[in-house]
Amino acid sequence: MADNLFPVVPDTGTMKAARLASQITGDPGRWVRLDCQHLRHVQQPVEPGQELECPTCPPSPGGALASRRVLRQGPGRRRRAWLDASPQAPGRAGAFAAEAVTLAGPISLIDDAGRMASELVASALRHTDAPVELTIDAGGDVVRIEVRDDDAGFPGGGKVVSFELREAPASA
Ligand SMILES: [Zn+2]
Repeated sequence: MADNLFPVVPDTGTMKAARLASQITGDPGRWVRLDCQHLRHVQQPVEPGQELECPTCPPSPGGALASRRVLRQGPGRRRRAWLDASPQAPGRAGAFAAEAVTLAGPISLIDDAGRMASELVASALRHTDAPVELTIDAGGDVVRIEVRDDDAGFPGGGKVVSFELREAPASA
């Protein structure tokens, strides 16, 4: 699922390169947003304003990658979404969680976080027709996924289910 968000080419800064680098070095690195709004992966810390090549922007006619500036990190790693009770909700939850973890890390948990968010939302929607609130708290080596169903017919009766994923130590 997460693979569809990024072009899979063996360039530096891509999802593929990020997975490879973290497998080889044990360091998951980090994702940064560029001023073209694309994300790219870096293995070393970078400063806002620093110029980096964007692997997503169209290259120049000569084949050179576009040079973009690193944006300041966004406000907080906690992201929240409301999902209507529809057959598409679990899929949307999975995509939302994968994106949140892509932005804040740890990237080795992107797939698991997407799958877990999708399952928690699917499970919540078996008990309610009301929208559910999905919160993803990602960063460091932990992702916390929280799903709250807030059935308006029962004030205060909303049920919270949460799940925490923790990155395994690098040496497996
Ligand atoms: Zn770009």
